[in-house]
Amino acid sequence: MNDRPLTLMAVHAHPDDEVTSTGGVLAKYAAEGVTTIVVTCTDGRCGDGPGGVKPGQPGHDPEAVAVTRRHELEASCATLKVTHLETLGYHDSGMMGWPTNEAPGAFWAAPLDEAAGRLAALIEKYRPDVVLTYDENGGYGHPDHIQVHRVTMAAVALAPVDRVYMSALPQSAMREIGERMRELGIGLDEIESAEAQPMGWPDEKITTWVDVAPVLDQKFDALSAHASQGDGAFFIGLGRETFATVMGVETFVRVGADAGGSSVKEDDLLTGLR
Ligand SMILES: [Zn+2]
Repeated sequence: MNDRPLTLMAVHAHPDDEVTSTGGVLAKYAAEGVTTIVVTCTDGRCGDGPGGVKPGQPGHDPEAVAVTRRHELEASCATLKVTHLETLGYHDSGMMGWPTNEAPGAFWAAPLDEAAGRLAALIEKYRPDVVLTYDENGGYGHPDHIQVHRVTMAAVALAPVDRVYMSALPQSAMREIGERMRELGIGLDEIESAEAQPMGWPDEKITTWVDVAPVLDQKFDALSAHASQGDGAFFIGLGRETFATVMGVETFVRVGADAGGSSVKEDDLLTGLR
């Protein structure tokens, strides 16, 4: 039997992603004595600069943005009681089609075996029971998020783990968020475009629904640590009450759960491992 705490590793693209899709489960399982590890693959240098300036605009210094975001990531992980924070050392690749996609050091341009080797070394170091990643489309098509999926799947082929989950938003939740935004008179590009082509996964494909309501204050505070970024500020601007209604459940697809025709439905990432 296992004589060490269960260990959960969440692989993420940028500083702040650890909160939006897994902040609740990181805080919840840390409180239950699980060892938690966040691996952030890029430095987030293509994020917002001071005053919300975008890459390429005057006043946007990618190196300075990366330093700011590293501090924010550390504060966020401290709030979520993350046991170990690791980074893979790649540069943020920016949005799909930006010249930064192919810039030296960009995660999107990194050879798959090199990046997977770095992650596999961390998997061998920490021996997680469960690894969290994104789906093939990275949730919404950002190159670094797509690359996180590819690199994680290649890494677990090199260093196998018991269980892999992909963060996956159910279409019902996407619709509900869209409706609440409209009620509040807020337009959110990613949600609005969802009307033409639904984002997220069909609800019946979601295997794992984890209630993170008890740790929502920690999730809210962790996202608040990423104050330099407009995306986080948007959700913080909703206030704690509305935040709770859109962020209170974290959902995942368990990789391989379809094998053998068994349909998994669970409310815990550690079902059967404790
Ligand atoms: Zn991201």
